[in-house]
Amino acid sequence: MQANQPLRVRDVIAELEAWAPPALQESYDNSGLLVGDWNAEVTGVLVSLDCTEEVVAEAAACGANLIVSHHPIVFKGLKRFTGSTYVERTVMAAIRQGIQLYAIHTNLDNVADGVNQRLASLVGCTTESQRILRPKASVLMQVVVYVPQGHAEAVQQAVFDAGAGRIGNYDECGWSVQGQGTFRPLPGAQPFAGQIGEREQAVEVRLEVVVEPWKLGGVLHAMKAAHPYEEVAHSVWPLENTLSNIGSGMVGELPGAMDEAAFLDRLKATLRCGAVKHTQLLGRPVRKVAVCGGSGSFLLGDAIRAGADVFVTSDFKYHEFFDADGRIVIADVGHYESEWQTTDLILKRLNEKFPNFALHLAKANPNPIHYR
Ligand SMILES: [Zn+2]
Repeated sequence: MQANQPLRVRDVIAELEAWAPPALQESYDNSGLLVGDWNAEVTGVLVSLDCTEEVVAEAAACGANLIVSHHPIVFKGLKRFTGSTYVERTVMAAIRQGIQLYAIHTNLDNVADGVNQRLASLVGCTTESQRILRPKASVLMQVVVYVPQGHAEAVQQAVFDAGAGRIGNYDECGWSVQGQGTFRPLPGAQPFAGQIGEREQAVEVRLEVVVEPWKLGGVLHAMKAAHPYEEVAHSVWPLENTLSNIGSGMVGELPGAMDEAAFLDRLKATLRCGAVKHTQLLGRPVRKVAVCGGSGSFLLGDAIRAGADVFVTSDFKYHEFFDADGRIVIADVGHYESEWQTTDLILKRLNEKFPNFALHLAKANPNPIHYR
Protein backbone atom coordinates (compact mmCIF):
# COMPACT_ATOMS: atom_id res chain seq x y z
CA MET A 1 0.00 0.00 0.00
CA GLN A 2 1.27 3.47 -0.90
CA ALA A 3 1.44 6.09 1.84
CA ASN A 4 -1.03 8.38 0.04
CA GLN A 5 -3.59 5.66 -0.70
CA PRO A 6 -6.65 5.42 1.53
CA LEU A 7 -6.71 2.54 3.99
CA ARG A 8 -9.33 0.00 2.95
CA VAL A 9 -11.09 -2.60 5.07
CA ARG A 10 -9.29 -5.30 3.04
CA ASP A 11 -5.88 -3.85 4.01
CA VAL A 12 -6.65 -4.14 7.72
CA ILE A 13 -8.07 -7.63 7.24
CA ALA A 14 -5.03 -8.73 5.22
CA GLU A 15 -2.77 -7.74 8.12
CA LEU A 16 -4.93 -9.56 10.67
CA GLU A 17 -5.17 -12.68 8.53
CA ALA A 18 -1.43 -12.81 7.87
CA TRP A 19 -1.19 -13.15 11.65
CA ALA A 20 -4.14 -15.50 12.23
CA PRO A 21 -5.14 -17.21 8.94
CA PRO A 22 -8.91 -17.81 8.78
CA ALA A 23 -8.22 -21.41 7.74
CA LEU A 24 -7.18 -22.01 11.36
CA GLN A 25 -10.59 -21.28 12.82
CA GLU A 26 -12.55 -24.17 14.29
CA SER A 27 -15.39 -25.69 12.26
CA TYR A 28 -18.10 -24.20 14.53
CA ASP A 29 -16.66 -20.71 14.32
CA ASN A 30 -17.65 -17.71 12.19
CA SER A 31 -14.55 -15.54 12.07
CA GLY A 32 -14.02 -13.08 9.25
CA LEU A 33 -15.86 -10.08 7.80
CA LEU A 34 -19.47 -10.47 9.01
CA VAL A 35 -21.00 -7.15 8.02
CA GLY A 36 -19.87 -4.56 5.49
CA ASP A 37 -17.75 -3.89 2.48
CA TRP A 38 -14.22 -5.15 1.86
CA ASN A 39 -13.45 -2.06 -0.18
CA ALA A 40 -14.80 0.59 2.20
CA GLU A 41 -12.29 3.26 3.15
CA VAL A 42 -11.48 2.93 6.84
CA THR A 43 -12.11 6.05 8.93
CA GLY A 44 -11.04 4.44 12.19
CA VAL A 45 -10.85 1.03 13.89
CA LEU A 46 -12.40 0.12 17.23
CA VAL A 47 -11.14 -3.07 18.89
CA SER A 48 -13.39 -4.89 21.35
CA LEU A 49 -13.71 -8.36 22.88
CA ASP A 50 -17.40 -8.55 21.97
CA CYS A 51 -19.52 -6.61 19.54
CA THR A 52 -22.72 -5.25 21.07
CA GLU A 53 -25.05 -2.33 20.37
CA GLU A 54 -23.08 -0.33 22.92
CA VAL A 55 -19.83 -1.04 21.07
CA VAL A 56 -21.38 -0.06 17.71
CA ALA A 57 -22.55 3.22 19.29
CA GLU A 58 -19.05 3.81 20.64
CA ALA A 59 -17.56 3.23 17.18
CA ALA A 60 -19.99 5.70 15.64
CA ALA A 61 -19.20 8.28 18.34
CA CYS A 62 -15.44 8.08 17.73
CA GLY A 63 -15.77 8.03 13.94
CA ALA A 64 -14.59 4.44 13.49
CA ASN A 65 -16.30 2.48 10.72
CA LEU A 66 -14.57 -0.85 11.38
CA ILE A 67 -15.04 -2.88 14.55
CA VAL A 68 -12.58 -5.73 15.10
CA SER A 69 -13.88 -8.04 17.81
CA HIS A 70 -12.62 -11.35 19.14
CA HIS A 71 -16.07 -12.96 19.42
CA PRO A 72 -18.22 -12.98 16.27
CA ILE A 73 -21.55 -11.24 16.85
CA VAL A 74 -23.15 -13.61 14.31
CA PHE A 75 -22.59 -17.26 15.19
CA LYS A 76 -25.56 -18.93 13.50
CA GLY A 77 -27.93 -18.12 10.67
CA LEU A 78 -30.18 -15.09 11.12
CA LYS A 79 -33.57 -15.47 9.47
CA ARG A 80 -35.08 -12.06 10.11
CA PHE A 81 -33.96 -8.59 11.07
CA THR A 82 -36.67 -7.11 13.24
CA GLY A 83 -34.56 -6.09 16.19
CA SER A 84 -36.02 -8.73 18.48
CA THR A 85 -32.59 -9.91 19.72
CA TYR A 86 -29.42 -8.04 20.63
CA VAL A 87 -27.65 -9.80 17.71
CA GLU A 88 -30.21 -8.51 15.17
CA ARG A 89 -30.14 -5.02 16.70
CA THR A 90 -26.32 -4.91 16.67
CA VAL A 91 -26.13 -6.00 13.02
CA MET A 92 -28.90 -3.58 12.00
CA ALA A 93 -27.19 -0.68 13.82
CA ALA A 94 -23.90 -1.46 12.10
CA ILE A 95 -25.48 -1.64 8.63
CA ARG A 96 -27.50 1.53 9.21
CA GLN A 97 -24.37 3.47 10.15
CA GLY A 98 -22.03 1.98 7.55
CA ILE A 99 -19.90 0.19 10.16
CA GLN A 100 -18.10 -2.99 9.16
CA LEU A 101 -17.92 -5.87 11.66
CA TYR A 102 -14.96 -8.21 11.59
CA ALA A 103 -14.23 -11.10 14.00
CA ILE A 104 -10.87 -12.76 14.68
CA HIS A 105 -11.81 -15.61 16.99
CA THR A 106 -10.56 -19.22 17.15
CA ASN A 107 -7.98 -18.52 14.43
CA LEU A 108 -6.39 -16.13 16.94
CA ASP A 109 -6.73 -18.79 19.66
CA ASN A 110 -4.85 -21.27 17.49
CA VAL A 111 -1.69 -19.31 16.62
CA ALA A 112 1.35 -19.39 18.89
CA ASP A 113 1.52 -15.59 19.21
CA GLY A 114 -2.19 -15.15 19.89
CA VAL A 115 -4.65 -15.22 22.78
CA ASN A 116 -2.97 -17.97 24.76
CA GLN A 117 0.59 -16.71 24.58
CA ARG A 118 -0.67 -13.44 26.01
CA LEU A 119 -2.55 -15.25 28.79
CA ALA A 120 0.43 -17.50 29.57
CA SER A 121 2.65 -14.43 29.91
CA LEU A 122 0.08 -12.67 32.08
CA VAL A 123 -0.14 -15.58 34.51
CA GLY A 124 3.65 -15.47 34.82
CA CYS A 125 5.03 -18.16 32.49
CA THR A 126 8.44 -17.36 31.02
CA THR A 127 8.49 -16.77 27.27
CA GLU A 128 11.08 -19.50 26.60
CA SER A 129 9.03 -22.18 28.37
CA GLN A 130 5.76 -21.59 26.51
CA ARG A 131 4.48 -24.16 24.05
CA ILE A 132 1.14 -25.09 22.52
CA LEU A 133 -0.84 -27.39 24.81
CA ARG A 134 -2.59 -29.37 22.06
CA PRO A 135 -0.84 -28.94 18.70
CA LYS A 136 -3.25 -29.08 15.80
CA ALA A 137 -3.08 -32.08 13.48
CA SER A 138 -3.77 -32.29 9.75
CA VAL A 139 -3.05 -28.66 8.95
CA LEU A 140 -0.02 -29.30 6.82
CA MET A 141 0.39 -30.29 3.17
CA GLN A 142 3.35 -31.73 1.32
CA VAL A 143 4.26 -30.65 -2.18
CA VAL A 144 6.45 -32.91 -4.34
CA VAL A 145 7.75 -31.63 -7.66
CA TYR A 146 10.09 -33.10 -10.28
CA VAL A 147 12.54 -30.60 -11.78
CA PRO A 148 15.20 -31.09 -14.47
CA GLN A 149 18.70 -30.99 -13.09
CA GLY A 150 20.11 -27.50 -13.20
CA HIS A 151 16.74 -25.89 -12.40
CA ALA A 152 16.12 -27.47 -8.99
CA GLU A 153 17.71 -24.69 -6.98
CA ALA A 154 15.66 -21.97 -8.67
CA VAL A 155 12.39 -23.86 -8.12
CA GLN A 156 13.31 -24.60 -4.50
CA GLN A 157 14.13 -20.96 -3.88
CA ALA A 158 10.84 -19.86 -5.47
CA VAL A 159 8.73 -22.12 -3.23
CA PHE A 160 10.70 -21.08 -0.14
CA ASP A 161 10.16 -17.42 -1.06
CA ALA A 162 6.41 -18.13 -1.33
CA GLY A 163 6.42 -19.47 2.26
CA ALA A 164 6.85 -23.25 1.84
CA GLY A 165 9.20 -25.20 4.11
CA ARG A 166 8.30 -23.65 7.45
CA ILE A 167 8.39 -26.06 10.43
CA GLY A 168 8.23 -24.54 13.93
CA ASN A 169 11.21 -22.22 14.35
CA TYR A 170 12.82 -23.35 11.09
CA ASP A 171 12.20 -22.22 7.56
CA GLU A 172 13.58 -23.30 4.17
CA CYS A 173 13.10 -26.94 5.20
CA GLY A 174 13.24 -29.15 2.11
CA TRP A 175 14.47 -32.49 0.88
CA SER A 176 15.61 -33.68 -2.53
CA VAL A 177 16.85 -36.72 -4.38
CA GLN A 178 18.00 -37.22 -7.93
CA GLY A 179 16.43 -39.75 -10.30
CA GLN A 180 15.47 -40.49 -13.84
CA GLY A 181 12.26 -39.13 -15.33
CA THR A 182 10.66 -40.03 -18.65
CA PHE A 183 8.09 -38.38 -20.87
CA ARG A 184 6.97 -38.51 -24.51
CA PRO A 185 5.85 -35.22 -26.07
CA LEU A 186 2.63 -35.63 -28.09
CA PRO A 187 1.65 -33.54 -31.12
CA GLY A 188 0.87 -30.00 -30.00
CA ALA A 189 3.39 -30.10 -27.15
CA GLN A 190 6.19 -27.59 -26.88
CA PRO A 191 8.66 -29.64 -24.87
CA PHE A 192 11.54 -28.16 -22.91
CA ALA A 193 13.62 -31.11 -24.16
CA GLY A 194 13.09 -34.03 -26.56
CA GLN A 195 11.27 -34.64 -29.82
CA ILE A 196 7.55 -35.08 -30.59
CA GLY A 197 6.62 -38.75 -30.51
CA GLU A 198 9.84 -39.96 -28.90
CA ARG A 199 10.32 -40.98 -25.29
CA GLU A 200 12.73 -38.60 -23.57
CA GLN A 201 14.82 -39.58 -20.57
CA ALA A 202 15.85 -36.77 -18.25
CA VAL A 203 17.83 -36.50 -15.05
CA GLU A 204 15.40 -34.88 -12.62
CA VAL A 205 15.41 -33.84 -9.00
CA ARG A 206 12.46 -34.72 -6.77
CA LEU A 207 11.93 -31.80 -4.40
CA GLU A 208 9.77 -32.13 -1.27
CA VAL A 209 8.52 -29.32 0.92
CA VAL A 210 5.78 -28.89 3.49
CA VAL A 211 3.28 -26.07 3.07
CA GLU A 212 0.60 -24.59 5.30
CA PRO A 213 -2.68 -24.84 3.33
CA TRP A 214 -3.32 -21.10 3.30
CA LYS A 215 0.00 -20.64 1.47
CA LEU A 216 -0.58 -23.46 -1.01
CA GLY A 217 -2.02 -21.37 -3.86
CA GLY A 218 0.91 -18.94 -3.80
CA VAL A 219 3.46 -21.73 -3.50
CA LEU A 220 2.07 -23.67 -6.49
CA HIS A 221 1.94 -20.48 -8.53
CA ALA A 222 5.58 -19.66 -7.69
CA MET A 223 6.63 -23.26 -8.34
CA LYS A 224 5.09 -23.31 -11.83
CA ALA A 225 6.47 -19.87 -12.69
CA ALA A 226 10.02 -20.98 -11.84
CA HIS A 227 9.72 -24.42 -13.48
CA PRO A 228 10.93 -24.82 -17.11
CA TYR A 229 8.50 -27.60 -18.12
CA GLU A 230 5.26 -26.96 -20.02
CA GLU A 231 3.50 -29.50 -17.78
CA VAL A 232 4.86 -29.43 -14.25
CA ALA A 233 4.83 -32.94 -12.73
CA HIS A 234 3.92 -32.47 -9.08
CA SER A 235 1.71 -33.81 -6.34
CA VAL A 236 0.08 -32.29 -3.26
CA TRP A 237 -0.50 -34.46 -0.20
CA PRO A 238 -2.48 -33.78 2.96
CA LEU A 239 -0.44 -34.73 6.05
CA GLU A 240 -1.70 -35.85 9.44
CA ASN A 241 1.29 -34.30 11.21
CA THR A 242 0.77 -31.82 14.00
CA LEU A 243 2.26 -28.35 13.89
CA SER A 244 4.08 -27.32 17.06
CA ASN A 245 3.23 -23.64 16.60
CA ILE A 246 -0.49 -24.08 15.83
CA GLY A 247 -3.12 -25.41 18.21
CA SER A 248 -5.12 -24.97 21.38
CA GLY A 249 -4.06 -23.68 24.78
CA MET A 250 -0.56 -23.07 26.05
CA VAL A 251 1.60 -24.52 28.79
CA GLY A 252 4.59 -22.87 30.41
CA GLU A 253 6.63 -22.56 33.56
CA LEU A 254 6.88 -19.87 36.20
CA PRO A 255 10.41 -18.52 36.78
CA GLY A 256 10.22 -20.01 40.29
CA ALA A 257 7.85 -22.23 42.26
CA MET A 258 4.94 -20.45 43.96
CA ASP A 259 2.54 -21.32 46.72
CA GLU A 260 -0.86 -22.36 45.28
CA ALA A 261 -2.92 -19.83 47.22
CA ALA A 262 -0.47 -17.04 46.42
CA PHE A 263 -0.61 -17.98 42.74
CA LEU A 264 -4.42 -17.85 42.71
CA ASP A 265 -4.43 -14.49 44.52
CA ARG A 266 -2.01 -13.07 41.97
CA LEU A 267 -4.10 -14.54 39.15
CA LYS A 268 -7.23 -12.86 40.50
CA ALA A 269 -5.49 -9.49 40.65
CA THR A 270 -3.75 -9.75 37.27
CA LEU A 271 -6.84 -10.83 35.34
CA ARG A 272 -9.12 -8.50 37.36
CA CYS A 273 -11.42 -11.37 38.33
CA GLY A 274 -14.48 -10.90 40.49
CA ALA A 275 -13.75 -14.41 41.77
CA VAL A 276 -11.68 -17.43 40.84
CA LYS A 277 -13.54 -20.74 41.04
CA HIS A 278 -11.04 -23.49 41.74
CA THR A 279 -10.79 -27.13 42.75
CA GLN A 280 -9.18 -28.29 45.96
CA LEU A 281 -5.61 -27.10 46.49
CA LEU A 282 -3.13 -29.98 46.40
CA GLY A 283 -0.54 -28.72 48.88
CA ARG A 284 2.23 -28.65 46.34
CA PRO A 285 4.01 -25.69 44.76
CA VAL A 286 2.95 -24.32 41.36
CA ARG A 287 5.66 -24.54 38.71
CA LYS A 288 3.94 -25.47 35.49
CA VAL A 289 0.77 -23.72 34.34
CA ALA A 290 -1.58 -24.55 31.47
CA VAL A 291 -3.88 -21.87 30.09
CA CYS A 292 -6.68 -21.54 27.59
CA GLY A 293 -8.47 -18.26 26.94
CA GLY A 294 -12.26 -18.74 26.86
CA SER A 295 -13.93 -22.11 27.28
CA GLY A 296 -11.08 -24.55 27.84
CA SER A 297 -12.52 -27.55 29.67
CA PHE A 298 -11.89 -29.72 26.59
CA LEU A 299 -8.15 -29.36 27.28
CA LEU A 300 -8.14 -30.66 30.87
CA GLY A 301 -6.66 -34.02 29.84
CA ASP A 302 -3.92 -32.29 27.85
CA ALA A 303 -3.12 -30.05 30.82
CA ILE A 304 -2.82 -33.07 33.15
CA ARG A 305 -0.67 -34.99 30.65
CA ALA A 306 1.58 -31.95 30.24
CA GLY A 307 2.22 -32.10 34.00
CA ALA A 308 0.65 -28.72 34.73
CA ASP A 309 0.03 -27.93 38.39
CA VAL A 310 -2.76 -25.45 37.59
CA PHE A 311 -5.05 -25.07 34.56
CA VAL A 312 -6.24 -21.48 34.07
CA THR A 313 -9.31 -21.19 31.85
CA SER A 314 -13.08 -20.66 32.08
CA ASP A 315 -16.55 -22.09 31.62
CA PHE A 316 -16.06 -25.34 33.52
CA LYS A 317 -19.38 -27.01 34.36
CA TYR A 318 -20.03 -28.33 37.85
CA HIS A 319 -19.36 -31.99 37.01
CA GLU A 320 -16.26 -31.16 35.00
CA PHE A 321 -14.57 -29.79 38.13
CA PHE A 322 -14.60 -33.35 39.54
CA ASP A 323 -12.33 -34.43 36.67
CA ALA A 324 -9.39 -32.60 38.29
CA ASP A 325 -9.41 -35.63 40.63
CA GLY A 326 -6.47 -34.52 42.75
CA ARG A 327 -4.15 -34.35 39.74
CA ILE A 328 -4.31 -30.64 38.95
CA VAL A 329 -5.91 -27.46 40.25
CA ILE A 330 -8.55 -26.08 37.88
CA ALA A 331 -8.75 -22.28 38.12
CA ASP A 332 -11.87 -20.99 36.38
CA VAL A 333 -11.25 -17.26 36.13
CA GLY A 334 -14.30 -16.34 34.00
CA HIS A 335 -14.57 -16.15 30.21
CA TYR A 336 -14.24 -12.37 29.90
CA GLU A 337 -11.42 -12.28 32.46
CA SER A 338 -9.44 -14.88 30.51
CA GLU A 339 -9.73 -12.94 27.25
CA TRP A 340 -10.10 -9.22 27.80
CA GLN A 341 -6.38 -8.77 27.20
CA THR A 342 -6.90 -10.01 23.64
CA THR A 343 -8.03 -6.52 22.65
CA ASP A 344 -4.63 -5.07 23.66
CA LEU A 345 -2.99 -7.74 21.57
CA ILE A 346 -5.04 -6.91 18.45
CA LEU A 347 -4.54 -3.18 18.94
CA LYS A 348 -0.79 -3.62 19.34
CA ARG A 349 -0.61 -5.62 16.12
CA LEU A 350 -2.58 -3.00 14.18
CA ASN A 351 -0.54 -0.19 15.72
CA GLU A 352 2.70 -1.75 14.51
CA LYS A 353 1.36 -1.95 10.96
CA PHE A 354 -0.66 1.27 10.83
CA PRO A 355 1.14 3.53 13.35
CA ASN A 356 -0.47 6.79 12.29
CA PHE A 357 -4.00 5.56 12.01
CA ALA A 358 -7.02 6.18 14.29
CA LEU A 359 -7.13 2.98 16.38
CA HIS A 360 -9.29 2.80 19.49
CA LEU A 361 -9.78 0.33 22.31
CA ALA A 362 -13.47 0.01 23.21
CA LYS A 363 -14.30 1.57 26.57
CA ALA A 364 -17.53 -0.41 26.88
CA ASN A 365 -17.14 -3.49 29.05
CA PRO A 366 -19.35 -6.07 27.37
CA ASN A 367 -18.95 -8.72 30.12
CA PRO A 368 -22.53 -9.90 30.77
CA ILE A 369 -21.47 -11.49 34.09
CA HIS A 370 -21.30 -9.45 37.29
CA TYR A 371 -20.06 -10.39 40.75
CA ARG A 372 -21.08 -9.11 44.16
ZN1 LIG B 1 -14.05 -16.29 24.14
